Amino acid sequence: MTSLTVRPDLAGLTPYGAPQLDVPVLLNVNENPHAPSEQVVRDITDAVAEAARGLNRYPDREFLPLRTDLAEYLHVESGATGLRAENIWAANGSNEVMLHVLQAFGGPGRTALSFAPTYSMYPEYARDTMTGWVTGRREEDFTLDPEHAVAQLREHRPAVVLLASPNNPTGTALPLDTVEAIAVAARTTGPEGADGTPTASVVVVDEAYAEFRRAGTPSALSILDRHPHLAVARTMSKAFGLAGARVGYLAAAAELVDVLRVVRLPYHLSAVTQAVARAALRHRGELMAQVAELRAERDRCVAWLREQGFTVADSDANFVLFGPVEDREQVFRDLLDRGVLIRVVGPPGWLRVSIGTAAEMAAFRAALQEVLGK
Ligand SMILES: *Cc1c(COP(=O)(O)O)cnc(C)c1O
Repeated sequence: MTSLTVRPDLAGLTPYGAPQLDVPVLLNVNENPHAPSEQVVRDITDAVAEAARGLNRYPDREFLPLRTDLAEYLHVESGATGLRAENIWAANGSNEVMLHVLQAFGGPGRTALSFAPTYSMYPEYARDTMTGWVTGRREEDFTLDPEHAVAQLREHRPAVVLLASPNNPTGTALPLDTVEAIAVAARTTGPEGADGTPTASVVVVDEAYAEFRRAGTPSALSILDRHPHLAVARTMSKAFGLAGARVGYLAAAAELVDVLRVVRLPYHLSAVTQAVARAALRHRGELMAQVAELRAERDRCVAWLREQGFTVADSDANFVLFGPVEDREQVFRDLLDRGVLIRVVGPPGWLRVSIGTAAEMAAFRAALQEVLGK
């Protein structure tokens, strides 16, 4: 018997991931339920054909045209002015972008901090980069108390702070005041510098679901220019309906982005990926139009679940966390038997449902009523 010399801290672990099952109603991983239109498909196909003609060469390592397009998109979507290609980083999903942040700023002897319940991938970035992992808490309604947050920064002196807003799995967006208070405190809460001087904690606001936020909820992009240690991560996987293409990105000061360029693998973003992303971004108007419909569907879902007597977390995302249910594994399985796949995630007693099309949400409501005998 040969035994593998796996890192002791990885021994026996299984890979993270929600079940990928072939069922009619997929409401478990917060995808956009709408496939790209034929027009978008044609444009992507043409762009890929063009890229294919040059596939004997490595891709553009700096992908400045894509970074320029993403800066321009953030300008249109969030009114973020002054962003240029050098302020944007991208990778194969924002998961990889955030891993780059941990690779660059975390590491042995350093700590990453977040506030639970939150995205279950965060501790994996920390583990994989041998960064310590600590969590503060969210309140009972899943909001974040800024005083508690700042106290946690002062106590743990994290190299990196990960703030999901809207948060997954709760849907909770952070008020700008809270992000601002954390960013200000974070100027001096990083690990001690070589000569004993204080350093900044890098604060990542993970806005994977930002496009779904309700009117009046701001993006942390609006305070980016005041904080060189702040980064806002976004993705094309959710609102943009491009989960299969694997494109995530981040906006920050050029100095911060430059450090991420050091840790990326060579040519990490394929020519095909770059072509697909740029073609899709040309159709942002059409792709974003669906977001309004999904937001309305989300609000209807929240209202309906409350009518059924559930507690429902306010959601600025394309999913809803609801509870309590007595045996959530059972409810999950009973829904699955009826062709509806949702997610067992969050504190005990809660379930998360992603927002699908009107027809899919009707199927979810009917199945849930049946399961609960209502
Ligand atoms: C889905 C999600 C992401 C983005 O994932 P990609 O790697 O870009 O597909 C990032 N953060 C959170 C909290 C998410 O739920």
